[in-house]
Amino acid sequence: MRYVKLKKEKIKEFLLALQDYGELYAPIKVSEKYFDFRKITNEQVDEVVLDYNRTLRPPRRFFFPEKEVLFTFNSKKVEMYENKEAFTSEPVVLFGVHACDIVGLRIMDSRFIDDQPDPYYRARREKGIIIGISCLPDEYCFCNVRRAEFVDSGFDLFLSEVEDGYVIRVGSVKGHKIIDATENLYVEVTKKDSDDLTAFDVKKSKMFTVSGNWDSLRYTLELNDEHPVIWMRESEKCLGCGNCTITCPTCRCYDVKDYPNLDGETGVRVRIWDSCQFREHGLVAGGHNFRPTKESRFKNRYMCKNAYCKEVTTAYCVGCGRCTYFCPAGINYKQNLIEIRGGI
Ligand code: SF4
Ligand code: SF4
Repeated sequence: MRYVKLKKEKIKEFLLALQDYGELYAPIKVSEKYFDFRKITNEQVDEVVLDYNRTLRPPRRFFFPEKEVLFTFNSKKVEMYENKEAFTSEPVVLFGVHACDIVGLRIMDSRFIDDQPDPYYRARREKGIIIGISCLPDEYCFCNVRRAEFVDSGFDLFLSEVEDGYVIRVGSVKGHKIIDATENLYVEVTKKDSDDLTAFDVKKSKMFTVSGNWDSLRYTLELNDEHPVIWMRESEKCLGCGNCTITCPTCRCYDVKDYPNLDGETGVRVRIWDSCQFREHGLVAGGHNFRPTKESRFKNRYMCKNAYCKEVTTAYCVGCGRCTYFCPAGINYKQNLIEIRGGI
Protein backbone atom coordinates (compact mmCIF):
# COMPACT_ATOMS: atom_id res chain seq x y z
CA MET A 1 0.00 0.00 0.00
CA ARG A 2 1.17 3.54 -0.74
CA TYR A 3 1.40 6.05 2.14
CA VAL A 4 1.89 9.80 2.09
CA LYS A 5 1.47 12.42 4.78
CA LEU A 6 -0.68 15.53 4.59
CA LYS A 7 0.22 18.18 7.14
CA LYS A 8 -2.71 19.87 8.92
CA GLU A 9 -2.02 23.24 7.32
CA LYS A 10 -2.50 21.66 3.88
CA ILE A 11 -5.99 20.26 4.53
CA LYS A 12 -7.76 23.24 2.98
CA GLU A 13 -5.69 22.98 -0.21
CA PHE A 14 -6.37 19.26 -0.31
CA LEU A 15 -10.14 19.81 -0.05
CA LEU A 16 -10.06 22.46 -2.77
CA ALA A 17 -8.10 20.09 -5.02
CA LEU A 18 -10.71 17.36 -4.52
CA GLN A 19 -13.27 19.55 -6.28
CA ASP A 20 -11.52 18.72 -9.56
CA TYR A 21 -12.76 15.14 -9.25
CA GLY A 22 -16.49 15.73 -8.85
CA GLU A 23 -19.03 17.26 -6.47
CA LEU A 24 -17.40 17.42 -3.07
CA TYR A 25 -19.45 16.49 -0.01
CA ALA A 26 -18.06 16.56 3.53
CA PRO A 27 -19.35 16.65 7.12
CA ILE A 28 -20.36 20.03 8.51
CA LYS A 29 -22.16 20.95 11.71
CA VAL A 30 -25.82 21.58 10.92
CA SER A 31 -27.19 22.12 14.44
CA GLU A 32 -26.10 22.04 18.06
CA LYS A 33 -26.04 18.24 18.08
CA TYR A 34 -25.95 17.10 14.47
CA PHE A 35 -23.54 16.80 11.58
CA ASP A 36 -24.41 15.99 7.98
CA PHE A 37 -22.60 15.47 4.68
CA ARG A 38 -23.24 18.62 2.65
CA LYS A 39 -22.02 19.91 -0.69
CA ILE A 40 -18.87 21.97 -0.21
CA THR A 41 -18.16 25.04 -2.30
CA ASN A 42 -14.92 27.06 -2.18
CA GLU A 43 -16.46 29.37 0.41
CA GLN A 44 -17.52 26.48 2.66
CA VAL A 45 -14.22 24.63 2.87
CA ASP A 46 -13.50 26.15 6.30
CA GLU A 47 -16.78 24.67 7.62
CA VAL A 48 -15.68 21.07 7.03
CA VAL A 49 -15.43 19.23 10.35
CA LEU A 50 -12.73 16.58 10.64
CA ASP A 51 -13.60 15.17 14.08
CA TYR A 52 -17.37 14.72 14.03
CA ASN A 53 -19.14 11.82 15.78
CA ARG A 54 -21.68 10.66 13.16
CA THR A 55 -23.72 12.20 10.38
CA LEU A 56 -27.48 12.52 10.45
CA ARG A 57 -27.88 10.93 7.03
CA PRO A 58 -25.73 7.95 6.06
CA PRO A 59 -23.40 7.85 3.03
CA ARG A 60 -25.61 5.39 1.18
CA ARG A 61 -27.92 8.23 0.16
CA PHE A 62 -25.37 9.43 -2.40
CA PHE A 63 -25.65 6.16 -4.30
CA PHE A 64 -29.18 5.08 -3.34
CA PRO A 65 -31.07 8.40 -3.05
CA GLU A 66 -34.07 8.88 -0.78
CA LYS A 67 -36.27 9.24 -3.86
CA GLU A 68 -35.58 8.73 -7.55
CA VAL A 69 -37.38 8.12 -10.82
CA LEU A 70 -36.70 4.60 -12.09
CA PHE A 71 -38.31 5.02 -15.49
CA THR A 72 -41.07 6.77 -17.39
CA PHE A 73 -43.81 4.96 -19.20
CA ASN A 74 -46.49 5.66 -21.73
CA SER A 75 -49.34 3.56 -22.98
CA LYS A 76 -47.22 2.13 -25.82
CA LYS A 77 -43.81 1.42 -24.27
CA VAL A 78 -41.68 1.55 -21.14
CA GLU A 79 -38.59 3.75 -21.40
CA MET A 80 -36.14 1.82 -19.23
CA TYR A 81 -33.32 3.77 -17.63
CA GLU A 82 -35.06 6.95 -18.71
CA ASN A 83 -33.61 8.54 -15.61
CA LYS A 84 -30.19 9.42 -17.01
CA GLU A 85 -29.10 11.38 -13.94
CA ALA A 86 -27.33 8.42 -12.36
CA PHE A 87 -25.27 7.88 -15.51
CA THR A 88 -24.54 11.48 -16.49
CA SER A 89 -24.19 13.28 -13.15
CA GLU A 90 -20.85 14.44 -11.79
CA PRO A 91 -19.12 11.85 -9.58
CA VAL A 92 -19.64 12.32 -5.87
CA VAL A 93 -16.44 12.86 -3.90
CA LEU A 94 -17.36 11.93 -0.36
CA PHE A 95 -14.79 13.20 2.11
CA GLY A 96 -14.55 12.24 5.77
CA VAL A 97 -16.23 8.85 5.81
CA HIS A 98 -15.69 6.82 8.98
CA ALA A 99 -14.54 3.19 8.79
CA CYS A 100 -17.94 1.86 9.94
CA ASP A 101 -19.70 3.76 7.16
CA ILE A 102 -17.25 2.37 4.60
CA VAL A 103 -18.18 -1.13 5.78
CA GLY A 104 -21.82 0.01 5.47
CA LEU A 105 -21.21 0.88 1.82
CA ARG A 106 -19.59 -2.51 1.22
CA ILE A 107 -22.74 -4.11 2.65
CA MET A 108 -24.84 -1.98 0.29
CA ASP A 109 -22.62 -3.10 -2.61
CA SER A 110 -23.17 -6.73 -1.69
CA ARG A 111 -26.91 -6.27 -2.15
CA PHE A 112 -27.14 -3.67 -4.97
CA ILE A 113 -24.17 -4.80 -7.08
CA ASP A 114 -23.32 -8.42 -6.25
CA ASP A 115 -26.72 -9.86 -5.37
CA GLN A 116 -29.39 -7.95 -7.33
CA PRO A 117 -27.49 -5.57 -9.65
CA ASP A 118 -29.05 -2.13 -9.69
CA PRO A 119 -27.85 -0.03 -12.66
CA TYR A 120 -28.45 3.33 -10.96
CA TYR A 121 -26.66 2.40 -7.75
CA ARG A 122 -23.81 0.78 -9.63
CA ALA A 123 -23.30 3.76 -11.97
CA ARG A 124 -23.05 6.18 -9.04
CA ARG A 125 -20.82 3.89 -7.00
CA GLU A 126 -18.36 3.14 -9.79
CA LYS A 127 -17.62 6.77 -10.49
CA GLY A 128 -17.81 7.92 -6.86
CA ILE A 129 -14.75 8.63 -4.73
CA ILE A 130 -14.62 7.69 -1.05
CA ILE A 131 -12.15 9.40 1.25
CA GLY A 132 -12.15 7.96 4.73
CA ILE A 133 -10.97 9.54 7.96
CA SER A 134 -10.04 8.09 11.34
CA CYS A 135 -12.24 8.76 14.35
CA LEU A 136 -12.57 8.12 18.07
CA PRO A 137 -15.66 6.44 19.52
CA ASP A 138 -18.28 7.91 21.85
CA GLU A 139 -20.62 5.98 24.15
CA TYR A 140 -22.96 5.09 21.27
CA CYS A 141 -20.29 3.38 19.13
CA PHE A 142 -19.65 -0.35 19.04
CA CYS A 143 -18.08 -0.77 15.60
CA ASN A 144 -15.22 -2.68 17.27
CA VAL A 145 -17.41 -5.67 18.15
CA ARG A 146 -18.85 -5.55 14.62
CA ARG A 147 -15.33 -5.60 13.14
CA ALA A 148 -15.94 -2.26 11.44
CA GLU A 149 -13.56 0.02 13.35
CA PHE A 150 -10.80 -0.39 10.76
CA VAL A 151 -10.91 -0.85 6.98
CA ASP A 152 -8.25 -1.82 4.49
CA SER A 153 -10.50 -1.70 1.43
CA GLY A 154 -13.59 0.14 0.22
CA PHE A 155 -11.93 3.56 0.01
CA ASP A 156 -9.88 5.51 -2.54
CA LEU A 157 -7.95 7.40 0.14
CA PHE A 158 -8.04 7.09 3.92
CA LEU A 159 -6.72 9.78 6.28
CA SER A 160 -5.47 8.62 9.68
CA GLU A 161 -4.73 11.32 12.22
CA VAL A 162 -1.22 11.79 13.59
CA GLU A 163 0.10 14.62 15.76
CA ASP A 164 0.59 17.26 13.07
CA GLY A 165 -1.38 15.89 10.13
CA TYR A 166 -2.81 12.81 8.48
CA VAL A 167 -1.15 9.71 7.08
CA ILE A 168 -3.00 8.91 3.87
CA ARG A 169 -3.43 5.33 2.72
CA VAL A 170 -4.06 4.94 -1.00
CA GLY A 171 -6.68 2.29 -1.70
CA SER A 172 -7.44 2.43 -5.43
CA VAL A 173 -6.26 3.50 -8.87
CA LYS A 174 -8.42 6.63 -8.52
CA GLY A 175 -6.68 7.32 -5.23
CA HIS A 176 -3.24 7.01 -6.84
CA LYS A 177 -4.27 9.48 -9.55
CA ILE A 178 -5.40 12.05 -6.99
CA ILE A 179 -2.15 11.72 -5.05
CA ASP A 180 -0.04 11.91 -8.24
CA ALA A 181 -1.83 15.07 -9.33
CA THR A 182 -1.45 16.77 -5.94
CA GLU A 183 1.95 15.43 -4.89
CA ASN A 184 3.21 18.91 -3.92
CA LEU A 185 0.86 18.75 -0.90
CA TYR A 186 2.56 15.79 0.79
CA VAL A 187 5.62 14.87 2.76
CA GLU A 188 7.08 11.47 3.56
CA VAL A 189 5.73 9.40 6.43
CA THR A 190 8.23 9.17 9.29
CA LYS A 191 8.86 6.68 12.09
CA LYS A 192 7.22 9.19 14.46
CA ASP A 193 4.06 9.15 12.31
CA SER A 194 4.01 5.36 12.40
CA ASP A 195 4.31 5.46 16.21
CA ASP A 196 1.50 8.05 16.33
CA LEU A 197 -0.77 5.75 14.32
CA THR A 198 -0.18 2.92 16.75
CA ALA A 199 -0.78 5.21 19.73
CA PHE A 200 -4.04 6.43 18.14
CA ASP A 201 -5.24 2.84 17.68
CA VAL A 202 -4.39 1.95 21.27
CA LYS A 203 -6.19 5.06 22.55
CA LYS A 204 -9.19 4.27 20.37
CA SER A 205 -9.46 0.64 21.48
CA LYS A 206 -9.45 1.75 25.14
CA MET A 207 -12.34 4.16 24.55
CA PHE A 208 -14.89 1.54 23.50
CA THR A 209 -17.34 0.54 26.21
CA VAL A 210 -17.75 -3.00 24.88
CA SER A 211 -15.13 -5.46 23.76
CA GLY A 212 -14.72 -8.83 22.15
CA ASN A 213 -16.69 -9.99 19.18
CA TRP A 214 -20.45 -10.07 18.66
CA ASP A 215 -20.51 -12.44 15.69
CA SER A 216 -22.45 -15.03 17.69
CA LEU A 217 -25.25 -12.52 18.33
CA ARG A 218 -27.02 -13.98 15.33
CA TYR A 219 -27.46 -17.31 17.08
CA THR A 220 -28.32 -15.71 20.40
CA LEU A 221 -31.11 -13.75 18.73
CA GLU A 222 -32.43 -16.72 16.81
CA LEU A 223 -32.51 -18.80 19.97
CA ASN A 224 -34.19 -15.96 21.87
CA ASP A 225 -36.86 -15.31 19.30
CA GLU A 226 -39.39 -14.97 22.08
CA HIS A 227 -37.18 -12.96 24.41
CA PRO A 228 -39.28 -12.53 27.55
CA VAL A 229 -38.49 -8.88 28.13
CA ILE A 230 -36.89 -6.99 25.28
CA TRP A 231 -39.46 -7.11 22.49
CA MET A 232 -42.52 -6.14 24.51
CA ARG A 233 -40.85 -3.68 26.90
CA GLU A 234 -38.86 -1.80 24.28
CA SER A 235 -41.42 -1.87 21.47
CA GLU A 236 -43.97 -0.28 23.82
CA LYS A 237 -41.76 2.85 23.86
CA CYS A 238 -41.29 2.85 20.07
CA LEU A 239 -43.06 5.61 18.12
CA GLY A 240 -42.75 3.80 14.79
CA CYS A 241 -41.15 6.91 13.31
CA GLY A 242 -38.53 5.06 11.26
CA ASN A 243 -35.62 7.32 12.28
CA CYS A 244 -33.55 4.28 13.19
CA THR A 245 -33.83 2.88 9.66
CA ILE A 246 -33.58 6.12 7.72
CA THR A 247 -30.32 7.03 9.47
CA CYS A 248 -28.85 3.51 9.33
CA PRO A 249 -25.97 3.12 6.85
CA THR A 250 -27.10 -0.36 5.77
CA CYS A 251 -30.92 -0.19 5.52
CA ARG A 252 -32.02 -0.97 1.99
CA CYS A 253 -35.82 -1.22 2.04
CA TYR A 254 -37.67 0.83 -0.54
CA ASP A 255 -41.16 1.23 -1.89
CA VAL A 256 -42.07 1.64 -5.56
CA LYS A 257 -44.91 3.89 -6.64
CA ASP A 258 -46.36 4.64 -10.07
CA TYR A 259 -47.52 8.19 -10.73
CA PRO A 260 -49.68 8.36 -13.86
CA ASN A 261 -50.13 11.76 -15.49
CA LEU A 262 -53.55 13.29 -16.14
CA ASP A 263 -53.21 12.59 -19.88
CA GLY A 264 -53.99 8.97 -19.07
CA GLU A 265 -51.08 7.80 -21.19
CA THR A 266 -47.82 8.66 -19.44
CA GLY A 267 -46.32 8.49 -16.00
CA VAL A 268 -43.28 7.70 -13.91
CA ARG A 269 -42.24 4.94 -11.56
CA VAL A 270 -40.51 6.26 -8.46
CA ARG A 271 -38.44 4.46 -5.83
CA ILE A 272 -38.63 5.86 -2.27
CA TRP A 273 -36.90 4.70 0.90
CA ASP A 274 -39.16 2.65 3.12
CA SER A 275 -38.88 1.50 6.72
CA CYS A 276 -39.78 -1.82 8.31
CA GLN A 277 -40.91 0.25 11.30
CA PHE A 278 -43.89 1.57 9.32
CA ARG A 279 -47.16 -0.32 9.64
CA GLU A 280 -47.63 -0.37 5.84
CA HIS A 281 -44.26 -2.06 5.26
CA GLY A 282 -45.65 -5.56 5.75
CA LEU A 283 -49.07 -4.80 4.27
CA VAL A 284 -49.89 -6.66 1.07
CA ALA A 285 -52.80 -6.86 -1.36
CA GLY A 286 -55.92 -8.24 0.29
CA GLY A 287 -55.17 -6.45 3.54
CA HIS A 288 -52.90 -9.05 5.13
CA ASN A 289 -50.01 -7.61 7.15
CA PHE A 290 -46.97 -9.79 7.74
CA ARG A 291 -45.94 -7.64 10.70
CA PRO A 292 -49.18 -6.29 12.11
CA THR A 293 -47.94 -5.31 15.58
CA LYS A 294 -45.34 -2.79 16.70
CA GLU A 295 -43.61 -5.59 18.58
CA SER A 296 -43.23 -7.69 15.42
CA ARG A 297 -41.88 -4.69 13.49
CA PHE A 298 -39.49 -3.78 16.29
CA LYS A 299 -38.17 -7.33 16.49
CA ASN A 300 -37.77 -7.48 12.72
CA ARG A 301 -35.20 -4.69 12.75
CA TYR A 302 -33.06 -6.43 15.35
CA MET A 303 -33.25 -9.70 13.43
CA CYS A 304 -32.58 -8.07 10.07
CA LYS A 305 -29.51 -6.27 11.36
CA ASN A 306 -28.05 -9.22 13.19
CA ALA A 307 -29.45 -12.48 11.88
CA TYR A 308 -30.74 -12.12 8.32
CA CYS A 309 -27.35 -11.39 6.77
CA LYS A 310 -25.37 -13.20 4.12
CA GLU A 311 -21.78 -13.04 2.84
CA VAL A 312 -19.54 -9.98 3.40
CA THR A 313 -20.13 -9.82 7.11
CA THR A 314 -21.83 -11.61 9.96
CA ALA A 315 -24.10 -8.63 10.57
CA TYR A 316 -25.83 -5.85 8.67
CA CYS A 317 -25.08 -3.65 11.65
CA VAL A 318 -21.74 -1.83 11.70
CA GLY A 319 -22.13 -0.37 15.20
CA CYS A 320 -22.30 3.30 14.15
CA GLY A 321 -24.73 4.17 16.96
CA ARG A 322 -27.09 6.25 14.79
CA CYS A 323 -30.24 4.28 15.63
CA THR A 324 -29.75 5.06 19.31
CA TYR A 325 -28.45 8.61 18.89
CA PHE A 326 -31.34 9.69 16.66
CA CYS A 327 -34.17 7.74 18.35
CA PRO A 328 -36.71 10.25 19.72
CA ALA A 329 -38.00 7.66 22.20
CA GLY A 330 -34.57 7.13 23.75
CA ILE A 331 -34.46 3.43 22.88
CA ASN A 332 -30.91 2.21 23.31
CA TYR A 333 -30.23 -0.42 20.65
CA LYS A 334 -26.69 -1.09 21.84
CA GLN A 335 -27.84 -1.58 25.43
CA ASN A 336 -30.64 -3.87 24.29
CA LEU A 337 -28.15 -6.02 22.38
CA ILE A 338 -25.98 -6.22 25.50
CA GLU A 339 -29.04 -7.32 27.48
CA ILE A 340 -29.91 -9.95 24.86
CA ARG A 341 -26.32 -11.18 25.16
CA GLY A 342 -26.84 -11.63 28.87
CA GLY A 343 -25.18 -8.40 29.94
CA ILE A 344 -21.83 -9.08 28.28
S1 SF4 B 1 -36.17 5.63 15.95
FE1 SF4 B 1 -36.85 4.80 17.94
S2 SF4 B 1 -39.00 5.41 18.11
FE2 SF4 B 1 -38.44 5.66 15.95
S3 SF4 B 1 -39.01 3.67 14.99
FE3 SF4 B 1 -36.85 3.50 15.59
S4 SF4 B 1 -36.87 2.55 17.65
FE4 SF4 B 1 -38.96 3.34 17.23
S1 SF4 C 1 -28.45 -0.90 13.30
FE1 SF4 C 1 -27.99 1.03 14.36
S2 SF4 C 1 -25.86 0.82 15.09
FE2 SF4 C 1 -26.21 -0.79 13.55
S3 SF4 C 1 -25.50 0.12 11.60
FE3 SF4 C 1 -27.72 0.55 11.73
S4 SF4 C 1 -27.87 2.57 12.71
FE4 SF4 C 1 -25.77 1.82 13.04
